[in-house]
Amino acid sequence: MNYATNSKRIIPLSQSQTLHLADISAPTPTIESLAADRATIESLLDQGDRPAALAAWDRQRRAYATWSQLAFLRFQQDTEDQHAVAMRALADELGPVAIGHDSAIKRRLLADPDRAGLEAAMGAHIVRLWQADITTFNDRIAARLEEENRLAAAYTALTSSARLEIDGHIVNLSGLQPFSEHLDRATRYRAAHVASAFYEENGAALDDIFDQMVRVRTAMARELGYPSFTELGYQRMRRTDYDAADVARYRDQILAQVVPLLARLLEARRADQGWDILYVWDEPLMDPLGNPAPRGDHDQLVEAGQIMFDRMDPGMGAFFRRMNEGGFLDLKTRPTKAPGGFCETFPTVGMPVIFANFNGTHQDIGVFTHEMGHALQFFASRNLPWIDMLSPTIDACEIHSMALEMLTYPHIGLLLGQDMAQRFQRMHLETCLHLLVGCALGDHFQHEIYANPDASPAERHAIYRALEQRYMPWRNYGDLAYAAAGTTWQQVLHFYEVPFYYIDYALACCCAMQFWVKAKSDPQAALADYLALCARGGSASFSDLVASAGLVSPFSSGALDAVVQQAAAALEGNSI
Ligand SMILES: [Zn+2]
Repeated sequence: MNYATNSKRIIPLSQSQTLHLADISAPTPTIESLAADRATIESLLDQGDRPAALAAWDRQRRAYATWSQLAFLRFQQDTEDQHAVAMRALADELGPVAIGHDSAIKRRLLADPDRAGLEAAMGAHIVRLWQADITTFNDRIAARLEEENRLAAAYTALTSSARLEIDGHIVNLSGLQPFSEHLDRATRYRAAHVASAFYEENGAALDDIFDQMVRVRTAMARELGYPSFTELGYQRMRRTDYDAADVARYRDQILAQVVPLLARLLEARRADQGWDILYVWDEPLMDPLGNPAPRGDHDQLVEAGQIMFDRMDPGMGAFFRRMNEGGFLDLKTRPTKAPGGFCETFPTVGMPVIFANFNGTHQDIGVFTHEMGHALQFFASRNLPWIDMLSPTIDACEIHSMALEMLTYPHIGLLLGQDMAQRFQRMHLETCLHLLVGCALGDHFQHEIYANPDASPAERHAIYRALEQRYMPWRNYGDLAYAAAGTTWQQVLHFYEVPFYYIDYALACCCAMQFWVKAKSDPQAALADYLALCARGGSASFSDLVASAGLVSPFSSGALDAVVQQAAAALEGNSI
C-alpha cells in the first residue's frame, strides 16, 4: 500500500517534553466552519487533486475528533459543570452535521471511477469501511441522530445522579460496588436492595428513554431502507466481515459450553458456603475469603502499575510514565463524575486518556489493565497514516484491552500483594466466563428488541426475563421483585448508548483467552504477538487482525473448545 501522499502530522513527543492533557486543545467548530471545511475538500476534488483533498480532510477530521473527544471527556469528568454540559450539548448537535459532511465526501470519493487508485492510497479495508458508513446516513435522519444523542446524554445524567445511602455512606452507582461484593452477606443484600430501589424509582424514566431510543433508531433504519434497526446497527458498528447469523452461532457456543461450566462453578460455591440458595447478591462474592482487593489507595496502585509495566516491557513502562506525568489518568471517583470507565484518544496529538472510577475493589485492577490495553493500542498505532486506521472496529479494540487484563497475571501480585495473586487470577477468570454469558444474553436481548420495535416496556421486560432464564438458569433474585421482573438490563449503559456493542466483549474475550493460554507456555512470544497486534491498529478488519495474530476466530466452530477447557481445568482442577 502506498501512503506516500499523506504528510506526517503527529506532534513528536520527545523524552524531554511531556505533553499534558491540559495542553490539548482544538478550535470549537460551528455549523459554518464545518460547511467551510467541506467546501475546501470539494474544491480540491473539483480541481482533481485527490491526494491533497485526502490529506486536508484527514487533518480536519483529526481536529474535529480531538475537539469532540475533549467535550465528551470534560462532561464525563463533571456532569454538573455548566460549561462542560454546554460543550457536550454542542457536540451532540454538531455530531450529525459532521457525519453528514463526512458521508458526502465519502460518497464522492467512492463514486470516483478510479477505485484502484483510492484503494492504493487508503487501503482496501478503509474503502470497505466507508462503504458501510455511507449506508448509515442521509440528511433526512440528521435530526433523529441528534435526538438519539440527546437521549444518550439523558441516560448518563440520570444514572450519574444516583446518590445512594448505605451503611452511613453516600455513594454513586460505582461506589456501591464494595458493598455489593462485601464478605458479609447481609451487607451484600442491603447493597442489592439499594441498587434495585434506585432502578425501581427511576424505572419508568429509564423505560421511557429506551422506548424513545428504539423508536428513533427504528425510524432511522426505515428511512435508510433497512428492514429493521439490527441491520443498520451492524453497519454502524462497521461489521464488514460477519453478520447476525455468525453472531447467533457464537452465542450458541457460549450457551453450550460456558453456561454449563459457570452453573457448575456457582453450584460448587453454593455447596461450599453451605447456602440453601445462591442469590443474586451472592454472585459478586467470587472468593470465599473475600474478593482480593488492590493493595493501598489510588496512588499506590499507580506506583505499582509503573513497576509492573517496566517489568513487562521497557516501551510499555515509558508509555505509562508519560501518561501519568501528563495527567492522562483520571481514575479517582468524584461525586459529579459520570460512572464507568473508558479510554479515548486525541488524534491531533496521538495521546490517549483513561477515565475510571476507582472504588477500592478488584474492579479497579480490571478497569486499569483493561483501559491501559486500549491506551497502548492507540499509542502503538498513532503514526499510521490515516485517522480511519488509528483504531480498529470495537470487536478488535476489546482484544487489546481484555488480553492485557490477562497478560498482566504474572505481575498482578504487585498490585494486590503476592499472597493474593492466585486468588485474583481465579476470580478474574471466572469474571471472564460471566462476561461471555452476560454479553451473549445482552446481545440476544437487543436482537429481540429491534426485531419487535413496537413491544411495550412490560413486554421488553418479559423478553429479558425469558432470555435470562435460559442464559443464567441459576439466577435467583429472592425478594428483589423489581429486578426479578426482567429489568436489570436497564443497568447496562451499552444498550442505551451503543446498541449491539455488547457482543464485541464476548468476541474479544475468546481471543484474549487465547493470549492467556499462549502466555502460560510462552509469555514473551504472547506479549510480542500482542504488541504487534496493537501496532496494527485499525489497518485491517476484525477477522484479518485475529488471523494475523495467530488466533482462532470466534466464528469458527469449536472456537471456545480450548479456552473453556483450560478455564475449567484452572477453576475446577485448581491448576492456575
Ligand atoms: Zn474496552
